[in-house]
Amino acid sequence: MLSRADFEARDAADPLASYRQRFALPENVTYLDGNSLGPLPRHVPDVVADVVQREWGIDLIRSWNDNGWWEMTQRVGERIARLIGAPTGSVVAGDTTTVALYKAVSAARRLRPDRHVILTDSGNFPTDLYVLSSVAEATGAALVTVPPEEVADRIGPDVAVLALTHVDYRTGRRHDMEALTTAAHAHGALVVWDLCHSAGAMPLDVANADLAVGCGYKYLNGGPGAPAFLYVHPDHQNAFVNPISGWWGHADPFAMEPHFRPAPGVRRVQVGTQPIIALAALEAALDAFDGVDMAALRHKSELLVSGFIQLVDERLSDFEVVTPRRAEDRGSHVTLAHEEATAVMAALVERGVIGDVRPPNLLRFGLAPLYQRHTDVWDAVEAIGGVMENKAWKRVATRHGPVT
Ligand SMILES: *Cc1c(COP(=O)(O)O)cnc(C)c1O
Repeated sequence: MLSRADFEARDAADPLASYRQRFALPENVTYLDGNSLGPLPRHVPDVVADVVQREWGIDLIRSWNDNGWWEMTQRVGERIARLIGAPTGSVVAGDTTTVALYKAVSAARRLRPDRHVILTDSGNFPTDLYVLSSVAEATGAALVTVPPEEVADRIGPDVAVLALTHVDYRTGRRHDMEALTTAAHAHGALVVWDLCHSAGAMPLDVANADLAVGCGYKYLNGGPGAPAFLYVHPDHQNAFVNPISGWWGHADPFAMEPHFRPAPGVRRVQVGTQPIIALAALEAALDAFDGVDMAALRHKSELLVSGFIQLVDERLSDFEVVTPRRAEDRGSHVTLAHEEATAVMAALVERGVIGDVRPPNLLRFGLAPLYQRHTDVWDAVEAIGGVMENKAWKRVATRHGPVT
């Protein structure tokens, strides 16, 4: 049986322990929802205040040149590229994941015009499924959706694009990115990866993938609605046809030409003017990763997740662990099933242990290795045990806001 002392010892031996100080996490909160909204890095408010007061307030429109606003999408893209194993000049930040995914899958589909299937899995995030369906409709393709474990077998000569999310937002199940990318390429298909639940949580190597997208506000901690990112393999960049030809993707935007000429390279994935204040927050947030050894990050993530699962096995017999048991099959959150998931989570949030729920019966606990402590794992499982033992979940008022 594990004890709190075991988790204290893990914290004492944690090579990333000091990174927590880079975040402004409130006292008395055990925050296990960074897979949905990363916490505030401590220095972001000052950076954003400077962008607003000095750059916008005083330098005004000169800031596009003088304060580097114009290059910001590419500058932030370069920093994300380092976290996902992408080469220089292949990633831009901007738009939202939903929009970035539409652009990526649409462009991939056009690169394989003689094939008619867009393949995905049924566990994919709803917005991804909706977007894939829209692209299929717009480009005369068929969307084929199979269970996650059947993806590899379904890849064949009719598949134009394989579009998958690396880590399942519900269960934490992780696809084998390298194996599936290789299999798709062996059949002549292109692959688009959604890295929303893995970018910033583990080392990634997208260099062989064709395209990838991901989110700025989960493990990258860029703030609510932070810009997303889009990766295009260098070999595809000059063939990438953006479904929305906008002036930010033009070869010479300020020539104000009446006809669209795509920019060379990855800049052509852009559409229109981007939210500079939000980009500034994301750029500053990425400083929190400075100096991080990504292998150590993954090692810590595995220890956090395995510690959580072991404690649930030992102490919470009412809960089923939905997350895969093998470390290589999962991401950085743990999902438990319980029929009273909503009430149990509401009781936990009342006690300052913040995770979230996904219908119909799943409780999610994000274990972000950059700032989480091992004792947070212990405290969370203690709190779940307490809520069950004193039946606090039966008395809690479940709030009915629009967001779960
Ligand atoms: C969080 C998430 C999204 C969110 O898309 P937005 O456009 O930022 O709302 C999309 N896909 C996946 C897999 C996600 O986890």
